[in-house]
Amino acid sequence: MLVKDIGICLARSEYSETSQIATIFGREHGKIRGIAKGARRTKSKFGQGIELLSRGQVVFSQPRSGSGLITLTEWTVQESYQQIRRSLGQLYRGYYLGELVDLFTEELDPHPQLFDLLEKGLADLAANENRVGVLAFQVELLREVGLSPELHRCGRCEKEPSNYVSFTEGGVLCRACAGAVNEKSRVKPAGLQALRRITSSQAAEPGEQTAEQIQQILSYWIRAALNREPKTSGFLT
Ligand SMILES: [Zn+2]
Repeated sequence: MLVKDIGICLARSEYSETSQIATIFGREHGKIRGIAKGARRTKSKFGQGIELLSRGQVVFSQPRSGSGLITLTEWTVQESYQQIRRSLGQLYRGYYLGELVDLFTEELDPHPQLFDLLEKGLADLAANENRVGVLAFQVELLREVGLSPELHRCGRCEKEPSNYVSFTEGGVLCRACAGAVNEKSRVKPAGLQALRRITSSQAAEPGEQTAEQIQQILSYWIRAALNREPKTSGFLT
């Protein structure tokens, strides 16, 4: 049975001279990883092939047995976010957003709010070169997948202020409690304050140094949550 969805391409690789493997984040179906046979031919049902970070209508069929590779049968691009591709910095930020969605979701596990968030994130990146958009995206994504850090009170004694963050403790820790916890990272108070403002959607565009401090906290948290480093995080500036 053929199924239609609107999706954004999160990853792709060449499969053969004529085919591609693509991971598409479908709004209604979640992550769809499948083979697009003939996608690399000049005349195909995939236009010019499925481009990373483009949004389009996908048609696919699931294997009858319920397992095995999905077949992508059609792709009609609707938006390729060309503005993002004009600057390497913006493009890497876009790759990072896509990779995070890929890493934090399972195949065929629908998450329409996350789709909308990614769509908005890419549209924002295409519209202007702002840092706060990428930071806010990470905060929203963590909220959507239920992995937001507690940023106000120490996870052990509920005291403030807190100077450390620990994934296993669920958020910030005070200095006194941090000694007893192995998995933790020291954070800059200014970065933590600025991150709180972003989580309450009161953030103005942060200065370069503050943005870096916020990103450090988020990167630490994301790495701990995933138990690995996103490949594209090193390109974030
Ligand atoms: Zn404490």
